[in-house]
Amino acid sequence: MIYKIFQDDPLGSYSVDDIIEIAGKDYYEMSQRTIFRAIEKLDNLRKIYCAGTMKGHRKFQLSNTGCLDLICNHCGTKVTMKTMLKSQLAAEIYEGYKFNILGFTAEYYGTCSCTNHKERNRCSD
Ligand SMILES: [Zn+2]
Repeated sequence: MIYKIFQDDPLGSYSVDDIIEIAGKDYYEMSQRTIFRAIEKLDNLRKIYCAGTMKGHRKFQLSNTGCLDLICNHCGTKVTMKTMLKSQLAAEIYEGYKFNILGFTAEYYGTCSCTNHKERNRCSD
């Protein structure tokens, strides 16, 4: 349930107090101790990580979330898409490089809807 709060806003970062506040609205039966334990557990499982501290409170964020910039080669439009890294790819990276991903940014190049279908397949321009 705590994990779902993070999944609802993949790029959000929350302190334990934030989670207690959010969880309090939906899950009255959860004690603060239960919530604190759930967060510690998610942290240990590397499902979330501590993204920094704010006013002395640790802020947690989902692992494997980041931004993709979609850049049009034709008109230069840049659209930023928030997304989660596919767990399959994260697993491959961990297997191959022993690298644990905590967020990412990437740039994807292509053409957006500014080009019509005919132009899209042309190499010139
Ligand atoms: Zn374009």
